[in-house]
Amino acid sequence: MAKSDIKTIGVVTSGGDAPGMNAALRAVVRACSYYKLRCKGIRLGYEGLITNNIVELGPRSVSNIINRGGTILKTARCAEFRTEEGRKKAYENIKKNEIDALIVIGGDGSFTGAHNFEKEFGIPTLGVPGTIDNDIFGTDNTIGYDTALNTVINAIDKIRDTATSHNRMFFIEVMGRDAGFIALNSGIASGAQDILIPEKKDEIEELFEAIQRGEKAGKLSNIIVVAEGEELGGVYDLAKFTKMKYPKYDIRVTVLGHIQRGGEPTCADRVLASRLGVAAVEGLMEGRSSVMAGIRSNNVVFTPFDEAIVKQNVINNELIRIADILAR
Ligand code: ADP
Repeated sequence: MAKSDIKTIGVVTSGGDAPGMNAALRAVVRACSYYKLRCKGIRLGYEGLITNNIVELGPRSVSNIINRGGTILKTARCAEFRTEEGRKKAYENIKKNEIDALIVIGGDGSFTGAHNFEKEFGIPTLGVPGTIDNDIFGTDNTIGYDTALNTVINAIDKIRDTATSHNRMFFIEVMGRDAGFIALNSGIASGAQDILIPEKKDEIEELFEAIQRGEKAGKLSNIIVVAEGEELGGVYDLAKFTKMKYPKYDIRVTVLGHIQRGGEPTCADRVLASRLGVAAVEGLMEGRSSVMAGIRSNNVVFTPFDEAIVKQNVINNELIRIADILAR
């Protein structure tokens, strides 16, 4: 579609929620207003496209949300959008609402849906990466990641107080089913004795070595940060095996869980979301589609959905190295 043909942009938040999605939504709506485009919000993820749950959004509709976690549009996982019939219904509602292009704030599942939808019906789509896991290729950071990291280190700092007072060892599980970004960075920032992530294929002996090193260095309490998706069996088994090996340790487990998804977005996430929301509108106006807006080395870049979905963000080995140097 030629750039001058876009008059109305639809915006949807889809998949797992992340702090900063509201700031991204606000940026999309305000940028549309700036460029004199209409903006329509689709509620409840792709479900809202299928059920025609669509509302007009003006600049005042997004007042006072830049600081709020979650997403005011709400989000959902929508099985029907995975089917051709579901996407056909979505297309009919897109036409009914005179939406010319769609901005999708979500993760790689949401981008796959958008990509399929564009290929089938020719509606230009553009992605904005919103997920706490930071596992999307094409951007240094995803929206919500920095907030989640800060939530995790605040929680671990509190756990450290009690760990130190009682000379306890804590296994702390953080989110990241397939990616260790949250674990690795929060582990460094909270001074963990060991960090277990799916990318590292740890052996239990390495964990035991780290614990022994701590003991030799005179450490009386230990924080071990474990990504949800590490492959040794999860925090409870790790705690059990460690207790069998070192019966003298007082060992506890904390699973941080969904607190990591919520809360006010940090400054970094608000700025990232604001930049990407504006970039998404401008990208569509420039005729871009089937791409994701991201920021790399402080510049806005657009990555084709094909690449953003298939390629992986890789863990920085330098971080693994310094985590090891510092845990002594
Ligand atoms: P995320 O966007 O956070 O990765 P999901 O993987 O749950 O979250 O995807 C969000 C939604 O995107 C799904 O509920 C579904 O509606 C849509 N979606 C995901 N994969 C596909 C697909 N292959 N085809 C069409 N729609 C998809």
